[in-house]
Amino acid sequence: MRPISEMTAAQARRVRFVLMDIDDTLTRGGKLLSSSYAALWSLKEAGLVVVPVTGRPAGWCDLIAREWPVDGVVGENGALAFWEEAAPAGAGSGGRAAADGRARLPALKQRFHPAAVRNDHPALERIRGRALAEVSGLRVAKDQFARLFDLALDFAEEDPVLSLSDALRVKAIAEEEGAVAKVSSIHVNVWMGAYDKLSMAESFLAARFGWDAATGLDQVVFAGDSPNDEPMFARFPLACAVANIRRYEGLVKSLPAFVAERECGEGFAEIAATLLERGAGLRRASPLTSTSAS
Ligand SMILES: [Mg+2]
Repeated sequence: MRPISEMTAAQARRVRFVLMDIDDTLTRGGKLLSSSYAALWSLKEAGLVVVPVTGRPAGWCDLIAREWPVDGVVGENGALAFWEEAAPAGAGSGGRAAADGRARLPALKQRFHPAAVRNDHPALERIRGRALAEVSGLRVAKDQFARLFDLALDFAEEDPVLSLSDALRVKAIAEEEGAVAKVSSIHVNVWMGAYDKLSMAESFLAARFGWDAATGLDQVVFAGDSPNDEPMFARFPLACAVANIRRYEGLVKSLPAFVAERECGEGFAEIAATLLERGAGLRRASPLTSTSAS
């Protein structure tokens, strides 16, 4: 990993898409920082496409897609993408609302990965039972009720904070039972089905913005902090980490090209500021028509 300050203007000017993890990349101590939220606005206002890519639940992604300054969100480690589309002018009840003088809100669109399996699968129930019995202090994450596809087991979001080796034990149990498992900075996420953050992020960018992997890998910056971000680090030549990635250095085989000096949300703000200072966002990426991405 090289310092983010070494990103060149030529590299930054190619960038059209800024993707980022949320927990411990935009947040610190569980809170979304004003500096990282302001950075999202700055990137968006510069015409860049902004897309969080997170292990957080579908229920949170509804809020993020509707209320944050983003062009969409990939959630549950790639099971889904949500985004907004402007309603066509003069259509249906929206037209009446406009006549009342109220602003018309865009429609929320949802895309589910074709390989995603709902989280009532019996294997997930078995994994939950085994993991809770075999790893003392482990618990189901409190955001589980808002999830559609994955099972989130909390080892470090709340007390007691368990060790990384406990998290790896949970991952091993899930894999023994035939599931996919990824360790984030707070949860072990477990799901059935062959997908990850990367496969959904790529299919969303292609369908919504006409992004082409054959020519566009260097148009994407991804920022993350932990092992569940590794597929993104491995794929994009301009991937970045916030400084807290160093906690997992032994666990992440494919480290990103760049690393921020600061941790968590301050590190993300540093990455965003570097991109904008070096000229990212001079060209705008436009969404394709609504039907192409649904
Ligand atoms: Mg994270």
